[in-house]
Amino acid sequence: MKDIDWKSLTFGYLRTDYNVRCYYRDGKWGEVEVCSDEYLKLHMAATCLHYGQEAFEGLKAYRCPDGKVRVFRAEENAARLQSTARGIVMPEVPTELFVDMVKKVVRLNQEYIPPYESGATLYLRPLLFGITAGVGVRPATGYCFLIFATPVGPYFKGGFSSNPYVIVRDVDRAAPLGTGMFKVGGNYAASLRANKMAHEKGYASEFYLDAKEKKYVDECGAANFFGIKNNTYVTPKSTSILPSITNKSLMQIAEDLGMKVERRPIAEDELDSFEEAGACGTAAVISPISHLDDLETGKVYNFGDQPGPWSKKLYETLRGIQYGTIEDKHGWTTVVIE
Ligand SMILES: *Cc1c(COP(=O)(O)O)cnc(C)c1O
Repeated sequence: MKDIDWKSLTFGYLRTDYNVRCYYRDGKWGEVEVCSDEYLKLHMAATCLHYGQEAFEGLKAYRCPDGKVRVFRAEENAARLQSTARGIVMPEVPTELFVDMVKKVVRLNQEYIPPYESGATLYLRPLLFGITAGVGVRPATGYCFLIFATPVGPYFKGGFSSNPYVIVRDVDRAAPLGTGMFKVGGNYAASLRANKMAHEKGYASEFYLDAKEKKYVDECGAANFFGIKNNTYVTPKSTSILPSITNKSLMQIAEDLGMKVERRPIAEDELDSFEEAGACGTAAVISPISHLDDLETGKVYNFGDQPGPWSKKLYETLRGIQYGTIEDKHGWTTVVIE
């Protein structure tokens, strides 16, 4: 293992030794290349730079207490990237190629996988982008798919805890029939202004209502929302929410734990009735919400300064599965290094 101060890691970028790349040309994917260069040689007229033909994924490799290294639901990331590719007219990366490249990049950089005790992980960032030169608006014919790895610190430095969020009404991250359900960089560009404002005001993140009516809950910044009441896990349904793999897994775990699960529109008014609420995604698993402020109406939705019992249970169960300490009865994890 590399001599790295694992405790000091944040969600930033630290160089690892290798990335893996595969090019799509003449209607087919080529051979996987192992690369030690961190830079790309990209044409200045490439479609990804001008017209946003760029998509990404995010998943982690976990060094587990049993000494094995596991990745979590990589096939789901492959499927989501395929859906995103269709959404912005790029070729789909086959699941087998995606998973092979995930395994390869983890094994090649295994000295950078943080020790279990540090709480840090090896974050994998798959990227798919159009590389054909051209100034006309049309999909590229050539594409690059690459995966790089970088160690990242634990989301909760001081332990699992709750944070405040703020409703924004003057920025939309995605339109109802736009690209909100696809993991494309453009959605993040659209959200940066709201994200900056939320951080400047001391919030963990911005919180979006639906773009059309500003009446229903959409997303918590770059994470999905869930609320809990009467032993029921409720998560919003909308056409502009990114389908989170963490949320999908939490819905299954909630059901396994005997909760009811509902995926349906959630009106802002209903927020008052939740006993617990949280944001969920790969980075944090669950980031419980202490309170949610609506600065326009002055309304404050309180969910408690400490994580609630269901949030804790869901968090611990999903983390346990990822780290191989709780039985993986749905076959979600893949052992990459024995
Ligand atoms: C990636 C992402 C999520 C979380 O998805 P996971 O698969 O759980 O990591 C949620 N919302 C947005 C907008 C995202 O880009």
